[in-house]
Amino acid sequence: MDVIVIGGGIVGVATAYQLRAAGHRVCVVERHATVAQGATYGQGGTVLPTPLDVWFGPTFMASRHTAKNGVISKTGFNGPARQFVKQLAALQDPEAFGRQYARLRPLIELSRETMADMEARFGLEYEQANGLLYLVRSAQEWEQTQPALGLLRQYEVPHHVLSPAECAAFEHSVPTDPAFAGGVLFDHERTANCPLFAKLVKQTLDTEGSVQFMFGCEVSAIRLEGQRAAVELAPRPGAAPRSREVDVIHADAVVVAGGYGSLALLERLGLRLPLHPLRVHNLVAPIAHEECAPHVAIVDSVKRIAISRMNHRLRIAGGAVLQSAAQIDKPLGEALTKEALALLGQATHDWIPGAARISAALPWEGVKLLSPDGLPVIGNVLHPRLFVNVGLGPAGWGLACGSGKLIADLITGGTPDVPADTLAALRADRFQ
Ligand SMILES: Cc1cc2nc3c(=O)[nH]c(=O)nc-3n(C[C@H](O)[C@H](O)[C@H](O)COP(=O)(O)OP(=O)(O)OC[C@H]3O[C@@H](n4cnc5c(N)ncnc54)[C@H](O)[C@@H]3O)c2cc1C
Repeated sequence: MDVIVIGGGIVGVATAYQLRAAGHRVCVVERHATVAQGATYGQGGTVLPTPLDVWFGPTFMASRHTAKNGVISKTGFNGPARQFVKQLAALQDPEAFGRQYARLRPLIELSRETMADMEARFGLEYEQANGLLYLVRSAQEWEQTQPALGLLRQYEVPHHVLSPAECAAFEHSVPTDPAFAGGVLFDHERTANCPLFAKLVKQTLDTEGSVQFMFGCEVSAIRLEGQRAAVELAPRPGAAPRSREVDVIHADAVVVAGGYGSLALLERLGLRLPLHPLRVHNLVAPIAHEECAPHVAIVDSVKRIAISRMNHRLRIAGGAVLQSAAQIDKPLGEALTKEALALLGQATHDWIPGAARISAALPWEGVKLLSPDGLPVIGNVLHPRLFVNVGLGPAGWGLACGSGKLIADLITGGTPDVPADTLAALRADRFQ
């Protein structure tokens, strides 16, 4: 089949790879000049989610103080945004979260296998590193983490609960003074460079000449026709108006994998997904003193800040800004940006003093799409030829490899490698 994938982020690239592997002819349409320029560009490094991840689940917004929970609320935070946070907060209940995690787990494992297969097949090196150490500062926060630890045991997620002294013995860069409550080590989980991975996968597709990438092209609309589908391309900025005709590409199927940009395209077709954009910040800082630099990734599990080492740099991600969806396209304002970046610098200084040269760090911000029940939206929508792969939110990096495989299976008519209740929990019509 001829398949168009809208979006050249990690989700679009991984989907194109899987579609190609299933024997389809694929065209990726991306508005930027290359792949990995959206949320994928600033990705924090952690590859796959665990029950300790903070954007949904027992530790979500455990503290109401923004300085402590790492979320900066913006004025203009309106009713729908509040409602969205309320829905996510319902997943603080360990049972409710446990049910969602059980549905997500097969996709996590499929993603792990798919990524390992791609890595081995092409010998990809993308700054992979083993080990994630989640740290918790106060005794009260440690108490709030207990339900999540219960879920780790219940779902037999390999992990080690460490005392502060054990954390410091394992990771010499973390000082025990000032005191902190403890840590959780995932020695099998990994961090890696997501934009680099996306570029390497694109390169393998280029080498095989098997997938066409159309860069600098914006999809303005999707057309659904009898047995086919098509996308309309917006005129390129500065291009001379040739005629009234719109550029249209026809295909047997269209996959919408445009991250935040997907919402507008789907809304034009009458599909309103209740996903919420979240602005997140990132600093890439050179290592200041090698002897102070961590050898595993450090996650401040209350402030939601991940610090991943990538060669001679630290990638520090967090400093989220919750705002109404209508405001997400407007610039944030200098004061809030400064506040968010200061949070990242401070967390780095607090947990691994002397490791990073924050004054020389490059700042960046991007938007990731969260879903109100913590699960992405993957599957067929509206028409037999239209598919979505969106809302992978805080865990989009690793999950993209599995979600791409699911989409390829669904388009090919094969049996997807996840149970039926997982497939149903990922479908868009669960929100109806
Ligand atoms: C600062 C930050 C830190 C993060 N940290 C982590 C982490 O540690 N671990 C993790 O797993 N995830 C993390 N995430 C989330 C992760 O980055 C995302 O889930 C993932 O990158 C989403 O990929 P995507 O391809 O869906 O979206 P994107 O990367 O945004 O790609 C979508 C692409 O579609 C294109 N597009 C959209 N609409 C159109 C259109 N109409 N026409 C043409 N092209 C279009 C866009 O230009 C864009 O390139 C983080 C995100 C941010 C911003």
